[in-house]
Amino acid sequence: MISTKKLFIGAALAVMAVMLFEWNHSGNRHANTSGLTAQAIAAESPPQVSPVKARARDFYAPNSEDLGPNEMRLIACGTGMPTARPKQAASCWLLELGNGDKFIFDIGTGSAERIAALQIPYNFLDKLFLSHLHTDHFGDLDALFVGGALMGRQKPLRVWGPSGDTPERGTKYALDHLYKALTWDLDGRKGITDPRGYVPFEVTEFDYKGVNQIVYEENGVTIRSIPAIHALDGPVSFILEWNGFKFVFGGDTYPNKWYAEYAKNADLAIHESFISVPTLIEKFKFTPQGALSVGTQVHTSPEAFGKMMSIVKPRMAVAYHFFNDFDTAPDITQRIRSTYDGPLSLATDYMVWNITKETVRVRMAAVDEDVWPPQPSEKPQVPDPKLRIPPSQVILDGKYDMKEVDQPTYDKINEEYGLSEKQD
Ligand SMILES: [Zn+2]
Ligand SMILES: [Zn+2]
Repeated sequence: MISTKKLFIGAALAVMAVMLFEWNHSGNRHANTSGLTAQAIAAESPPQVSPVKARARDFYAPNSEDLGPNEMRLIACGTGMPTARPKQAASCWLLELGNGDKFIFDIGTGSAERIAALQIPYNFLDKLFLSHLHTDHFGDLDALFVGGALMGRQKPLRVWGPSGDTPERGTKYALDHLYKALTWDLDGRKGITDPRGYVPFEVTEFDYKGVNQIVYEENGVTIRSIPAIHALDGPVSFILEWNGFKFVFGGDTYPNKWYAEYAKNADLAIHESFISVPTLIEKFKFTPQGALSVGTQVHTSPEAFGKMMSIVKPRMAVAYHFFNDFDTAPDITQRIRSTYDGPLSLATDYMVWNITKETVRVRMAAVDEDVWPPQPSEKPQVPDPKLRIPPSQVILDGKYDMKEVDQPTYDKINEEYGLSEKQD
């Protein structure tokens, strides 16, 4: 049974509730308590959005956001290792500047598909900087080169990379021979596709021993190189400066004095942080000796990464070159945190950093796996069919006659586009 006291309280609350609301002139009801205006109350409480209204997302959808004139966007297109895996391609980083310039740093195995997912017309992806010539840093160059030319890079692919201690270990030698290796591929496209993107790489090979030397200077952007210590002589790291920003891309290296000096106070500094020695033994099945050598001498251990970042003090430190999983990430984090307590990102593929003077925003990109190549930024050039290299008669004689089944397609396309194309 409800007591009189409870009834009284209930009635009093109901009266108060009625008193607390009034209808304003637009018909919206709002609380009129403690002198707060309707606007102030609205600002204090989250907007009541109907389920059919769009809401802001906390991921980056490629090609959906403007880049401010004083902003940089970095997208990890490969953060893994020489051993290929679906989740992480090998080293590749796309840096977009507010002035429209775009730079690719490394193009490791598997990374070309990550680049493709970003839906940037290939004409704007013509500047590539290689830290060194391990395949996990340039193994997808052929895919970027041929696929990019096929889908809209109507200009040479420009590549900057270090010399070696002999000419054969330099970037120019590697790329000249890669181009030669593509002879069959490129010859087969003559007279069929826009030829402008298939010309030989424009290679700028610079001295790997140069310290803070300028390797690129255009459009207000300066890129310098510093030596790195890794495997053989030759590897380098890059420092890009633009509009008061400093971005550092560290290639594979044992921690070195040049990085400690020239990466200082970067807005964003990438440096390798290899898998820990115990994990190399346990998961990679390395011998203890091999794990110690690779994990602390050929590469940088997580503890050493942290120590380097404590010296450099970037606004954001980015660690990569390890398999970033639910079980390895806590281990890597703990080791880095034993020597560094500043801002940190453990990179994985499709991680995105928006960098302004005020903030460094870190998110993941959400990409469309069914993506098609972006619309070329310029009209393709119609190729000269006379450049085609014809098959031999032996091969031509092997053609099965399909003219009847393909003719309707010819008729339809000829009519639709006002052409008079004939089957071979
Ligand atoms: Zn390497
Ligand atoms: Zn590597």
